[in-house]
Amino acid sequence: PPAPEDPSSVTPMMAQFLTIKQDHPDALLFYRMGDFYEMFFSDAEQASRALDITLTKRGKHNGDDIPMCGVPVHAHEQYLSKLIRKGFRVAVCEQTEDPAEAKKRGAKSVVKRAVVRVVTPGTITEDSLLDARSNNYLAAIAEAQGELGLAWIDVSTGQFFTQSSSPEHIGAQLARLNPGEVLHPDSLLNRDAYLHVLDDWRDALTPQPASRFDSTNGAKRLQAVFHVATLDAFGGFSRAEVAAAGGLLDYVELTQKGKLPRISPPVRISAGGVMEIDAATRRNLELSQTLTGARKGSLLAAIDLTITGAGARLLSDRLAAPLTDVALIENRFCDVQFCLTQTRLREDVRAQLAHSPDLERALSRLTLGRGGPRDLAAVQTGLALTAVVRDLFGAKDIPQGLTKSLDELGAHGALVGALGTALADELPIQARDGGFIRPGYRPDLDELRMMRDESRRLIAGLQGDYQKHTGLAALKVKHNNVLGYFIEVSAKHADKLMGAEGPYIHRQTMANVVRFSTVELSELESKIARAADGGVVLELEIFDQLCAQVIADGDAIALAARALAQLDVAMGLAELAQRRRLTRPIVDDSVDFEIIQGRHPVVEAALEAGAGEKFVANDCRQDDDLGRLWLLTGPNMAGKSTFLRQNALIAVLAQMGSFVPAERARIGVVDRLFSRVGAADDLARGRSTFMVEMVETAAILNQAGPRALVILDEIGRGTSTFDGLSIAWAVIEHLHEVNTCRALFATHYHELTALQAKLSGLSCHAMKVKEWQGEVVFLHEVGAGAADRSYGIHVGKLAGLPAAVVARAEQILKSLEAGEQSSTVTKLADDLPLFSHAPAQSATPASGPRKASEVEVAVKNVLPDEMTPREALDFLYRLKTLS
Ligand code: ADP
Repeated sequence: PPAPEDPSSVTPMMAQFLTIKQDHPDALLFYRMGDFYEMFFSDAEQASRALDITLTKRGKHNGDDIPMCGVPVHAHEQYLSKLIRKGFRVAVCEQTEDPAEAKKRGAKSVVKRAVVRVVTPGTITEDSLLDARSNNYLAAIAEAQGELGLAWIDVSTGQFFTQSSSPEHIGAQLARLNPGEVLHPDSLLNRDAYLHVLDDWRDALTPQPASRFDSTNGAKRLQAVFHVATLDAFGGFSRAEVAAAGGLLDYVELTQKGKLPRISPPVRISAGGVMEIDAATRRNLELSQTLTGARKGSLLAAIDLTITGAGARLLSDRLAAPLTDVALIENRFCDVQFCLTQTRLREDVRAQLAHSPDLERALSRLTLGRGGPRDLAAVQTGLALTAVVRDLFGAKDIPQGLTKSLDELGAHGALVGALGTALADELPIQARDGGFIRPGYRPDLDELRMMRDESRRLIAGLQGDYQKHTGLAALKVKHNNVLGYFIEVSAKHADKLMGAEGPYIHRQTMANVVRFSTVELSELESKIARAADGGVVLELEIFDQLCAQVIADGDAIALAARALAQLDVAMGLAELAQRRRLTRPIVDDSVDFEIIQGRHPVVEAALEAGAGEKFVANDCRQDDDLGRLWLLTGPNMAGKSTFLRQNALIAVLAQMGSFVPAERARIGVVDRLFSRVGAADDLARGRSTFMVEMVETAAILNQAGPRALVILDEIGRGTSTFDGLSIAWAVIEHLHEVNTCRALFATHYHELTALQAKLSGLSCHAMKVKEWQGEVVFLHEVGAGAADRSYGIHVGKLAGLPAAVVARAEQILKSLEAGEQSSTVTKLADDLPLFSHAPAQSATPASGPRKASEVEVAVKNVLPDEMTPREALDFLYRLKTLS
């Protein structure tokens, strides 16, 4: 807002608003006024547009109207969520004293207000603003000693991590986390190495002064938050990681106005600990969302059979970060195997989990002072569940991972008991609404409630007394917020009370009724109010005590919540293995890749759900003898992409600890996964696609090491035939000679199969096709050797190309196949117009081109056999106009 020309012309309230707004220039200010959050000036203009609510005005500033809009407090969350999703930050400014206090200071004084919280995309905790089944990470990047560090936290659950980084890795790391907000030193924006990475996260970036990412301050801050003298206990963090973590905590504290949620000690993700998958590969393989951005249709959606929100979030994290440590992966397999064989246990545990509330998020809200009675109940129910679940497991021979989770469930009987005896059965959302403490829990509260109820009963009794006294059966005792309790009679009976000797005091005359009060009523009313107020004060006190009890147990509760999520994931993956017929793979330290009768988990499920067509399983075997580089040829629509992707997905599934859709699988640990699709397939992006394709291909050739798995689908097709063929050719040579990684390369350039003679590690495979009664049938079967024809024309025919085009294409193909290629193409290029049915030679007069007249062209292009009599007649008329 513009500064006032004359400060004295500004109302005290507006002066307060302007002062507070000054501290939050980049956020919309929700200014609390009674039951509304109001916005002023440009905040109001932006918000009214974004929320589609009415813009009004209130008072004047420098002679101009002040634009204003507001949202009701009781419904503010839905507006907040809309604003956050549209990229706004919102500073919530509350009244921090009772308006009565302000009045005592003088008629003109303003209620004290302060911003209690800045809501940003990375710091939200409300269930209504969050997706229950995905994490919402706040990430921070920082630099120290020439190194890059990354830290991230989910404020709604308190999970906190760090990892060392570099300009080369940061893109893939952020893609893995998919953070809602990314903090970074503003200086990073001037550095070329980070530009394209930061650009990918443009909408989520929150630049901070570089001084916020000081590693020495960061270390102090972490030590203070976790009450330790040194950070060594948590692992060996780099300076840059500490700087990032410090900046992160700083920001959380800043936006929460000094309050920190419960935060787990930072877990350090080791450098090579997870399979690296860059953003383009994730998009391509549709790991957690499809190319169009939907969750449905992604691998995640296909494998997620978890029951709880926390379980779904953990599964999503695991899918995003498959492991590379063979022993850890093996542990996860053992857990899944156990749950798979224990069918009864699985059913029972899953049935219990169905009642599980979101313990992690309830806890986070309570520690931030933003929780309500229902969050306490969530803690009680969630913790009560831990004991039930552990009992279900009993004393079976339980594998290591599950044993650890069962231990972590902990023992919470005392807290569950305390909450259970304190909380009533029906709970309000807000603590200040009262009524959430169980009757019998506190005698003093019961007494206040009794006084309140007794007074209410007395009032109900008074109605009868007054009716008798006045002889008016229609007399009523009513209540409203302005008058409190009052007597109401119809206007024609009012005289009976008006002049009479008696307790009735006239208060209000309406059109049809007249209202009275009595001393008795007022006295009872204040008794009720005192009792009710006293009751709420007491309840709030108890609420705070219960919260303190929960917070004191916070770490153990968070651990239990995590353990429940782990059990949910193991059970969910076992259920998946059972339903989708998955098998336990072997992951080892070799660099072999052996998938026997593998299937694409998403395509297979879609086929089964659809017309019931059967998915054709295929093998993929790569090792020293069989070659590590597969060249796959075959016509479009034959199943090349499906086959390529299914192998990548099987590797991802195996290393995240899931069973896989194959009869048998043995996978040498993959440390980096790459997948690229030729530009023509990459419709969702809409950038200069060939350039993008080449940039991405370059990244693979520069980065893929011997443990990488590379999937290239139709690379080089975004340019002319010979360019494309040459690029594809050179890429294969490079993969074979330099990268020496496992790779699958699909192409429709049959010429590439000639490379097999030259490259010992290259083996050629083709999608099988059958010709049957003049029709082509795709078998979706991968066989050895090269495809002999592309059948593209057949596909065109299926797609409904006009018969004339199909016929002409077949003609061209014949002459291409018959002759020397390049000269044929030159000849064909001269051979215009393409749609002539005349023999090719005669279309090119030796004497050089003569321009055909319009009539000649029209006649030449017409197909009399395909015309209706009506079209023939129309054609004749057209000729007449041309001649
Ligand atoms: P290409 O990459 O060769 O053009 P796609 O992999 O896109 O072909 O496959 C085309 C369609 O064929 C898929 O959408 C799927 O419906 C079907 N398909 C592919 N592979 C199989 C398979 N193994 N079994 C059954 N149907 C398949």
